[in-house]
Amino acid sequence: MNAPASISTSVATDLHWFAERAEALNNSAEHAEDVLPELGRRDLLRIGVPAALGGSGGTTSDSLEAIAAVAERSLTAAFVFWGQRTFIEYLLASPNEGLRERWLADLLAGRFAGATGLSNAMKYLSGIEALQLTARAQGDRLRVDGRLPWVTNLRHAGFAAAAAVQREDGGAAIVALADSQPGVRRSADLDLVALRGSNTAAIDVDAVDLGPEWLIHEDARTFCPAVRPAFLALQLGMPIGLARVALRTARERAGSAHAIVLPKVAEVSAEVEAQAAALHAGLADGRFVADAPTLFRIRIRLAELVQSALGLELDATGGRAYLLDQNREFARRWVEGAFVPVITPSLTQLQGELARHAAQGQG
Ligand SMILES: Cc1cc2nc3c(=O)[nH]c(=O)nc-3n(C[C@H](O)[C@H](O)[C@H](O)COP(=O)(O)OP(=O)(O)OC[C@H]3O[C@@H](n4cnc5c(N)ncnc54)[C@H](O)[C@@H]3O)c2cc1C
Repeated sequence: MNAPASISTSVATDLHWFAERAEALNNSAEHAEDVLPELGRRDLLRIGVPAALGGSGGTTSDSLEAIAAVAERSLTAAFVFWGQRTFIEYLLASPNEGLRERWLADLLAGRFAGATGLSNAMKYLSGIEALQLTARAQGDRLRVDGRLPWVTNLRHAGFAAAAAVQREDGGAAIVALADSQPGVRRSADLDLVALRGSNTAAIDVDAVDLGPEWLIHEDARTFCPAVRPAFLALQLGMPIGLARVALRTARERAGSAHAIVLPKVAEVSAEVEAQAAALHAGLADGRFVADAPTLFRIRIRLAELVQSALGLELDATGGRAYLLDQNREFARRWVEGAFVPVITPSLTQLQGELARHAAQGQG
């Protein structure tokens, strides 16, 4: 399948800023506040959003390729991109027009941060964990309490985050929380081993009063499966970009190991691109809404391919990979790669889902 039309435009955009700060973004919060405005300045956040709503048009495929292009430079920046772009996707899918009117323009410009706290909801819907926020109804308002232990893109300059809340009647809703609301408190940055410039922290929610204007969707069981293809496909921009840059580096560095390394690089590259093509095809015809297992298998295979790609970069680089003054990039990519299987939905979670589908005769 051919690459989506606007990819070349997004890749051609000047991404040096992210490449030059990749080490600092991984190791410190020095540039954490700047990532979003830099993405916005390049109009990357508008890709795949209808022009009528302030976007530059195109598709989810175009947006995931833009995330992949950033991931080739810095996984931290790509992760922030994913969080912001996924939050934008939630607003596009929400029946609440007021939220779009309030935030969309600033989100697309990178002036205001949107975070996705929906790992908990995705795990809840898979029967893995309880919802971490509870809501007590007071007329048409909700009083929300609880804690979201992991949320990325919580800019100190201000943020909104999407989260699922457990209602007393047993249902679950998706709401927006903002740091401007009384009772919403961001923790200090989590002490991460990598991706430290991603503004990742916890949110404590204490008796937060939400009117209907804060509702993204009243039913998590309808909303989450509908947005899951975009949530997951955009996330897959990260392993695709990381695998591509590791394989390219392996090709360039192969030197005397070329006879052994290059055929393997060609094989893994072909499979990465085949998985990316399957992803684009599934997004184009909408099949992942009804056929989640196919998307899960792509996610699992891409995570394995990233590990193979990084292994080949190491094989090609040899001992130089261990010399900080020669090559910091490999060491950074190695820990960036460790994040790929962990992010929700994790590989073990998806393997469990696939086993369940197979047991039900659906897989
Ligand atoms: C750097 C970073 C940033 C993050 N940013 C965000 C964010 O922006 N938004 C957000 O919502 N979350 C975010 N998370 C949270 C993340 O996606 C996970 O939800 C979080 O790591 C906790 O879940 P866990 O699966 O690791 O933990 P646990 O639930 O303790 O599980 C441990 C392991 O067991 C597996 N497991 C548990 N139960 C089952 C089961 N029943 N079947 C199969 N496998 C199972 C899990 O998948 C995992 O591999 C972030 C995490 C990290 C590390």
